[in-house]
Amino acid sequence: MHQRVTAGALVSWLIRFRDRKRRRLAPVGINATPAIQPLQDGPQLSLDSGVRSRVHSELMAKCCGSENDLVTITRAACSRCGSRGAAVDLLTAKALLTAIALRHLTPTPLYFCQDPTCSVVYFTTDGQVYTSTDVRVPVWQKEPAGSRRICYCFDENEASMLRELGETGRCGAVQRVRDHIAANRCACEVRNPRGTCCLGDLMKAVTRLESDCVSEVEK
Ligand SMILES: [Zn+2]
Repeated sequence: MHQRVTAGALVSWLIRFRDRKRRRLAPVGINATPAIQPLQDGPQLSLDSGVRSRVHSELMAKCCGSENDLVTITRAACSRCGSRGAAVDLLTAKALLTAIALRHLTPTPLYFCQDPTCSVVYFTTDGQVYTSTDVRVPVWQKEPAGSRRICYCFDENEASMLRELGETGRCGAVQRVRDHIAANRCACEVRNPRGTCCLGDLMKAVTRLESDCVSEVEK
């Protein structure tokens, strides 16, 4: 259960936040470190030979590593919505599929569809599909905004982050998760349906919440 944000505290923070924005100061609570992003001029790997191929790979900067810490991301088109989903470790799906779904899993490369309008969570290039109801936890990418859990390891969710913004004027979720990562406590590969570090998603969520607050005040 999440407590409601005190209306007075939220409004007072919103006004302070808007004024800060107007003074063109950096907003609070946002860490400028980018999440996983394609390299601008970096090397690109390609495992396929053309646009008609369904699978391709690319080098990305690792979100919680150094700038030189690169990972290879393989993607394939979701068989239902067509969006490009990143490969997910088989262990992630094994940990998070329901018992019934797991009974049907054929161990082939799996991909994660993050399109919010598509019910597919995991898919393969040979036709296997697992939807939200096959996964043991709510997949936030498929849920309506408001109280979605963004960090599955330490339960940083939209409701608690918004409450923190209202009560303190800042959200320390990103730093808290960074500290947990540094202490080697995270287990994204078996807790996060996407199977990867949540830090990039968390930074975007904090930015989104702050921006929503400002829009509310500007109305
Ligand atoms: Zn899809």
